Amino acid sequence: MALITISDKVRFIESVFGSGKLARNGKNFDVRCPVCAPKDHSKKKLAILIEDDRCHCWTCGYKAHTLAPLIRKYGNREKLAEYVDKYMPATERNRRCLWIDADEPEPPKLELPKDFKLLVTASLRDPDVLAMRKYLGQRGIGEREMWYFKLGFSDEMRWKRRVLVPSFDANGELNYFVGRAIDKFRRPKYDNPDNDKLPIIFNELNVDWTQELVLCEGAFDLMKCPDNTVPLLGSDLNEQSALFNAIIAHGTPIVLALDDDMRYKKTPKIAQKLAEYDVAVRITRMPEDADPGLLSRTHVKQLVADAPTLSWLDTFRDKLDFKSRTRLSR
Ligand SMILES: [Zn+2]
Repeated sequence: MALITISDKVRFIESVFGSGKLARNGKNFDVRCPVCAPKDHSKKKLAILIEDDRCHCWTCGYKAHTLAPLIRKYGNREKLAEYVDKYMPATERNRRCLWIDADEPEPPKLELPKDFKLLVTASLRDPDVLAMRKYLGQRGIGEREMWYFKLGFSDEMRWKRRVLVPSFDANGELNYFVGRAIDKFRRPKYDNPDNDKLPIIFNELNVDWTQELVLCEGAFDLMKCPDNTVPLLGSDLNEQSALFNAIIAHGTPIVLALDDDMRYKKTPKIAQKLAEYDVAVRITRMPEDADPGLLSRTHVKQLVADAPTLSWLDTFRDKLDFKSRTRLSR
């Protein structure tokens, strides 16, 4: 890899954001924030951490893990391409860089529970295994998915009788897992390791950023979605997340396949956020009260294929429709 010096990087940053200055700590480079765009051009309130591109504006509070969203919005396509090719920390996006600070301890490596075993090869004499397989069967998840998603289990207290779904980063390293309780009244329904979720792109190993990407809510929805899908692990798409930044950086077209109850709330918000960065968005029409996890894979595939392109008029109509419906039901 060609070595990029700090002055190369600073020159690049200035070519996008205008002249800036190195902060006294020698780690931040401060430029004028294009988001709040102060009239006084000498105000350099956007602090960029040169080593890993995290940035933060002291005036408007804008924050991101990379510069990609800002360059896409306020720079141009050439600059964005140059950034992604040359300057954006490429491995374990947003987290590490060529000149990582030696004082900063590496975050502890995430591990699966020590006794993690694959469900598909586990002994059927174990009643918990039987119960977990039965649970999966009821959700339409068979051996194909158990193999493909490496579904597993552990007998540790916290994870017992939870189906564990591991996630692997672009290099095939474990970066997260979720544990779904199979017993109806167990809380929380989903339990995850306590690590920060923002840098996690669930199963990035399977993602092709050059193809249209489906976003769903949870790991169990993922199992019913087309191959190129990432779950949000919630119903929000945070602008600081690695997922958001990767979508913007690659200009990946998106299909939203969120639960039906998000139709009027989160879905339009996420769509709008992506559209602001010129990302093409389509939105699936889930059957009422459904989520992908409840449907068959074939059904979800069809919904994704049929998803209309986002148009603001439609979203607006949906909102009107929603309002008139709630008024009627009162
Ligand atoms: Zn700002």
